Amino acid sequence: MQADIRKSQTKEHSVETISMKNVSKIYDNGHTAVQNVDLTIKEGDFVSFVGPSGCGKSTIFKMVAGLTTITDGHIRLFNEEIESNERDARDLAYVFQDATLLPWLNVEKNVRMPLTFQSIKKEEQNKMVKESLELVGLKGYEHAMPRELSGGMKMRVSIARALVSKPKMLLMDEPFGALDEITRQNLQEELLRIWNTQKMTVLFITHNVFESVYLSNRVAVMTASPGKIDDVIDVPLPYPRNAEIRTAPEFSSLVAEISEKLKK
Ligand code: ADP
Repeated sequence: MQADIRKSQTKEHSVETISMKNVSKIYDNGHTAVQNVDLTIKEGDFVSFVGPSGCGKSTIFKMVAGLTTITDGHIRLFNEEIESNERDARDLAYVFQDATLLPWLNVEKNVRMPLTFQSIKKEEQNKMVKESLELVGLKGYEHAMPRELSGGMKMRVSIARALVSKPKMLLMDEPFGALDEITRQNLQEELLRIWNTQKMTVLFITHNVFESVYLSNRVAVMTASPGKIDDVIDVPLPYPRNAEIRTAPEFSSLVAEISEKLKK
């Protein structure tokens, strides 16, 4: 079934979600964080960004999300110029390495939080929160407090909160970086399942080349000082991806190719 969904996503791949043309970012202190980035991301893509610390991965995400200005060039998001700032904030959600949950609110209330800023009826909110919690496997944990949860469970809450508004695009900035390997692999599998069912576009930052190949259909390899996209590598491994794929020769050769580019 996942394969069917994936096929229909491929059909939709002609629709552009993000188009970056000659984009540069110079911060107020004069530091050029990103220079001349050209990148097109299609609807339903799962694109990972890998590169050394400080090469501008988060800066690209912040520009896409409208959290920082673009110094030069253009970004079009859902076919609208990003500067317009009139886009629907619900189109896009952000997940960080730190789950950033409110410690005094239980799981259900943390997930509901983004909806409380929107004029959505209480019954509809209840339905959306319930669906989102089920999607990430948190049914039964509605009343748990953040302090009672493991790192992996907190990340699930953070993902549920991001998904509750049914965004078209998810920006994930090293979400699994602080988790142990087993939890990380479990969440990678969960994330692919969610991506398939929700038909979202996902942009994902990671320092882990294995993770980038396992998850993505394309990997953007960046270089530092100033941050540029060196190459965008296609990952032609079929979906659904399971644990066996991690030991396949094609998987290893893609990991080797990307690692080699990063070493340069
Ligand atoms: P990455 O996510 O790849 O680690 P960032 O996008 O966070 O990189 O940062 C890129 C570069 O821009 C780094 O050198 C960082 O120190 C610098 N930088 C990030 N934010 C700011 C800021 N607000 N002001 C000045 N420099 C910044």
